[in-house]
Amino acid sequence: MKTATTLLHAGHRADAGTNAVAVPIHMTTSYQFDSTEHAADLFALKQFGNIYTRVMNPTTDVLEKRIAAMEGGVAALAVASGQAATMMAIQNIAQAGDNIVSSTDLYGGSWNLLANTLKTMGIEVRFVDPTDPENFRRATDARTRAYYAETLPNPKLHVFPIGEVASIGNELGVPLIVDNTAAPLICKPFAHGAHIVVYSTTKYIGGHGTAIGGIIVDSGTFDWEKHAARFPMLNTPDPSYHGAVWTEAVKPIGPVAYIIKARVTLLRDAGAAMSPFNAWMFLQGLETLPLRMARHSENAAKVAAWLDGHPAVARVVHPGLFEGMQAARAQRYLEGGMGGLVGFELKGGRAAGRAFIDALKLFYHVANIGDARSLAIHPATTTHSQLSPEAQLKTGVTEGYVRLSLGLEDIEDIIDDLDQALAASQPAAVAA
Ligand code: PLP
Repeated sequence: MKTATTLLHAGHRADAGTNAVAVPIHMTTSYQFDSTEHAADLFALKQFGNIYTRVMNPTTDVLEKRIAAMEGGVAALAVASGQAATMMAIQNIAQAGDNIVSSTDLYGGSWNLLANTLKTMGIEVRFVDPTDPENFRRATDARTRAYYAETLPNPKLHVFPIGEVASIGNELGVPLIVDNTAAPLICKPFAHGAHIVVYSTTKYIGGHGTAIGGIIVDSGTFDWEKHAARFPMLNTPDPSYHGAVWTEAVKPIGPVAYIIKARVTLLRDAGAAMSPFNAWMFLQGLETLPLRMARHSENAAKVAAWLDGHPAVARVVHPGLFEGMQAARAQRYLEGGMGGLVGFELKGGRAAGRAFIDALKLFYHVANIGDARSLAIHPATTTHSQLSPEAQLKTGVTEGYVRLSLGLEDIEDIIDDLDQALAASQPAAVAA
């Protein structure tokens, strides 16, 4: 099946009990065992089946199968949020004394998680500039357990060199984990060699700004056994699951050791499960994702072109407007469109940025991205306000910088709103 078909059909045809066509919402905590033998077999992983919704659920299972199919992966694990997905994707293979090498271009929440929280657990994160992929090789040592990056990080929107870094990882035996939150469907990280993908499904996958969720997808292409010395957590007896060696235990069902281990140990212990109701919301979102991503990309490209050259605008940040290496990376990796995000800098600095945001009527002023509605934020006074001006600059945020997440509205209404807010942001209007 092609992707658009997959998103409507993978993992579910009709409900076994009722013939319901829509995926039922299984709001149950538990599942009755057929017998004591059945229960023992499920716990011993001799048989796979439902035990308890913290670890698996039939509604969530359809979402996991559908997103795994969408990415061309072998298995997926849905969790409570995008943050939980990143946390577990790393914790599944790294422990105290280990390190990971991460791109500097990250969502602020992920930066905090990696730089501060993982540090308290003894996991060191080495941040490197992704402009030169070789920086990942230079930062790697025998305790490096993963590379981490975002496909389309905002506010810079510099597309990550997935293929280049995945190749280095293949040479050195280090898997590449890619957060594809801002680019579902328009980038297929596994096709370029990434090994694990994570999403905040809160954004484009849900699409309606209604539910928080995350998912980890395994390509099944990383050979954990070949690099057994680097991945003892997958290749030596796990005391938390009566000595299971994950690469051995799951061999009969395929290359799914990474996801099974995350499910039956980390999700079991940390408990950051996705609600079945949220899984159902994300299934609704997936059905229209191809149409929505095309429209988000189209509206963003039109807005970027309209802002480019506007007298109140100093610069526009959009992958379609880049030149040189950044343009080449955008062309190579964003095969299905340039995405729905646009950044721009107002000539009037901080005062203009604030006045612009306050004057918006159609756009919502929120910290989210990927909603069906158009969204805007002024990072210098909100998401990045705790950073020093120097640190803000490093992340690509200046005083007059505004980030837009273009929604699905009619482009004329979007441009009308931007037009009147830009007029209101000009010094004369601000002073008045
Ligand atoms: N990754 C990216 C790129 C994000 O933009 C976000 C949220 O803004 C997250 C991860 C975290 O996702 P969540 O808010 O679902 O925990």
